Amino acid sequence: MSPPADQVTLIRGARVYDRALDVHKPPVRDVIVEGSRIASVTLPDESADRKTRIAEAARRNESNVRVIDGTGKLVIPGLVNAHYHSYDVLAKGRLEDMPFDVWALHSQPAYWGKRSKAELRARTLLGAMECLRHGITTIQDMNSLVPQDEETLDIILAAYAEVGVRVVFSIAVRDIAALDIAPFLPRDLPPQVAAIVGGKPGDAQADLAFVEAQIKRIDPLPPRLHWALSPSGPQRCSTPLLEGIAGLSERYRLPVFTHVYETRAQLAKARSHYPGHGGSLVRYMADLGLLTARTTIAHSVYITDAEIADVARAGAGVVHNPLSNLKLKNGVAPLLDLKRAGVNLALGCDNCSCSDCQNLFQAMKLYTLLAAGMDAEPTGVLAQDALAAATTGGARAVGLAGMIGDVRPGMLADLTLIDLSDLAYLPFNSAARQLVFAETGRAVHTVMVDGELVLEDGRLTRIDEHAFRHELEEVMQAVDRDYAQLVARQAPAIAFLLEANHNLTQAKLGPHRLVSEGE
Ligand SMILES: [Zn+2]
Repeated sequence: MSPPADQVTLIRGARVYDRALDVHKPPVRDVIVEGSRIASVTLPDESADRKTRIAEAARRNESNVRVIDGTGKLVIPGLVNAHYHSYDVLAKGRLEDMPFDVWALHSQPAYWGKRSKAELRARTLLGAMECLRHGITTIQDMNSLVPQDEETLDIILAAYAEVGVRVVFSIAVRDIAALDIAPFLPRDLPPQVAAIVGGKPGDAQADLAFVEAQIKRIDPLPPRLHWALSPSGPQRCSTPLLEGIAGLSERYRLPVFTHVYETRAQLAKARSHYPGHGGSLVRYMADLGLLTARTTIAHSVYITDAEIADVARAGAGVVHNPLSNLKLKNGVAPLLDLKRAGVNLALGCDNCSCSDCQNLFQAMKLYTLLAAGMDAEPTGVLAQDALAAATTGGARAVGLAGMIGDVRPGMLADLTLIDLSDLAYLPFNSAARQLVFAETGRAVHTVMVDGELVLEDGRLTRIDEHAFRHELEEVMQAVDRDYAQLVARQAPAIAFLLEANHNLTQAKLGPHRLVSEGE
């Protein structure tokens, strides 16, 4: 439910972060929001009559008028979580010290099978609630639907509508079952293990038909829902599936998100399986018409300089996910090379099972720290660049450039108010630096999406959190039971995947991206 078109909100006397102005001591401004849009951002003594009328109407308790005292607050653009999967939110804190493929064995929805309606709803709500609490107003949810049907999709989208966050939703598709690391598995796997790691191939035409049918069915889209497209990874999709996605992107002008070079196994697969495309997944995508200004690739840890140039030339972007890249032992993306090439950079928090939180303050801090750790000389990667990646960079990635990502007149009113009385800002020296290096998410005070307050003074306005906790407790009984069974079921494959991972580490392949591989 969006606010009525005549709803007016005046945020009075707050510092307003604008990347083009003083990012350290943002000037004090008044922000007027009308309906779902920012109507004006003005000096406190500008348009005084209008503001007085709004304040008087609010004092008379007129239902469509509201004044928020912004004194001691900082208004920033709502953050954009540009890479996220809501399917394993309930697995936060379950896993650690696992290479990618062992982690995947415990977290991928295909291994879990069909989940209850209550669980689908609870996990979607919980992930979105955590995002809002951390000032994130837009989520790119790349979601594998299990089963891939309208009922599953509708439960997830209804949960998003209930909590009030903006979501750029993509249905993840793949039709090649083989694991990326399959070539490194020992030969003669026991049949039981081969069955676990073998998977089932998909049907490209059925996937494309389903995705397009949903785009047509949910039309017009509700105000805070946006579509995107997601081949899971170029190496996990047949050529017809990738070409079909490129066609849908062109026809419906939709952004495309896909995983590229998240792991070293994907690098090896590119070199061995795509000789006709220079051994490059990026070139393969380009050759299929899938590397465009609407494309954003998640991770790109193992991307080369030549491929970075291809991405930059196409106007495509990259979503950097430092938390999951480190936790899953994949290493660090070549951040300085991406920046030098002018690639649009966004930030994501990725799965809850491999980053354990939806908190872009952690991602922003890691981005700047990892960049700092790459060169003993100044790198030019500043806190304000991390903020840009989490706002305008994300907006561009999700296809909403110019609509979200800044606090400027005419843009959608997706805003986060930070409480500057929090210890992170005492003393207050720099908004940009303290947001990135000191903020934990604790000072997120109020969040507006589409002109509606969805978090007010730290409390979610649409969700009864007490009732939700009870719902979640009930859901977790089945999750805990099924997780124990899953662990037992997958256990026979783990030693073989660890062996494959070891074989992979022995392979002579560059570039090197682990923190310890500098020499
Ligand atoms: Zn991902």
